[in-house]
Amino acid sequence: MNMIELKQVSRRYGAVQALAPLDFSVKQGEFVTLLGPSGSGKTTLLNVIAGMVNPSSGQIFVRGVDITKAPPSARGLGMVFQNYALMPHMTVFDNIAFPLRVRKMPKDEIARKVKDVLDMVRLPDIAQRKPKELSGGQQQRVSLARCIVYNPALILLDEPLGALDKKLREQMQLEIRRLHAELGITMLNVTHDQDEALSMSDRIVLMNEGRVEQIATPDELYRSPRTAFAASFIGTANLISGTVEHHAGERALVSTSLGMLRAAATACTASRGESVTLLVRPESVRMGPASDSPTGDGADGLRHAGTLEDSIMLGSVVRHHVRLTGGMQMVVQQQDSRRRPAPERGAPVLLDWAPEDCQMILQD
Ligand code: ADP
Ligand code: MG
Repeated sequence: MNMIELKQVSRRYGAVQALAPLDFSVKQGEFVTLLGPSGSGKTTLLNVIAGMVNPSSGQIFVRGVDITKAPPSARGLGMVFQNYALMPHMTVFDNIAFPLRVRKMPKDEIARKVKDVLDMVRLPDIAQRKPKELSGGQQQRVSLARCIVYNPALILLDEPLGALDKKLREQMQLEIRRLHAELGITMLNVTHDQDEALSMSDRIVLMNEGRVEQIATPDELYRSPRTAFAASFIGTANLISGTVEHHAGERALVSTSLGMLRAAATACTASRGESVTLLVRPESVRMGPASDSPTGDGADGLRHAGTLEDSIMLGSVVRHHVRLTGGMQMVVQQQDSRRRPAPERGAPVLLDWAPEDCQMILQD
């Protein structure tokens, strides 16, 4: 069942189309992330769902019921923000109890629920503290507890971890995932951080300038981005523009400044004469010293000559920047290997890749 469904929802601010009409749904129990650069419409979309902003068009359904016109309090949704939004003069207990008191729950039941939920977010001993006596991570756990305590149908999270440092952010990502799994609550998270989106989400809604660019699992989004924007927003992308020379089934031949390249064309329907982009991920590029035989196993029969400009050690992998003879820069990522040391900086190298690792996608 769809926990939430949007049909042709849009929002305009004067001349600014903050959201173009868009459709998407979140299934019960799913963890979905709205991902996109600043200004792409993520907060607007979340606020439209929460009822804080009216949509200019479209309908919103929660469990099949049209709530487009319902006030925020009647939607049964919880919200967690980056700035915690805890009430500073109240204790943690009172902050969490607040939504239950509003709902006129009996006192002893409130006490039991607050205790349970503080155990759940692993903060059993802080009920009597004020928010300012807590660290940022603890405050964010209290915000989550305050949300979970009244059992909302859906929790909306607007960059809740944005203000935390990297280590704490990663800890909280795991914590939120654990709560999501244990409680089975549906969550819709907003972030501009691709790593957070990839590591936390069942599905990602990638947004760009108020439009949905692609909706996919993290794996699909990385392996089969539909557009050049999607390819470069998720991970590192070598993008080569070209013109389709021949396209049949899932194979294509594309004319580029690097020559005629073979590509996999599973998700792109462009035909002869159309402009496209080719995507080659850094880990798919093979790099060898230029002294290797220049003919041979390059799958296009092509190997691309260049100069190794820079190598950056990233733990278990090394990232190389290579300037090809025609001027194009390519990023190459290889496992660090003592047995097969990389060429020296400034050395001539040859690059190649398998045609199935070169994907034809839409040009932006
Ligand atoms: P994000 O959360 O992805 O950074 P927002 O949803 O905040 O993006 O903003 C999307 C676009 O709508 C931006 O161009 C922003 O300037 C505009 N916008 C958002 N809120 C308002 C508002 N209250 N008035 C005018 N323009 C707004
Ligand atoms: Mg925002």
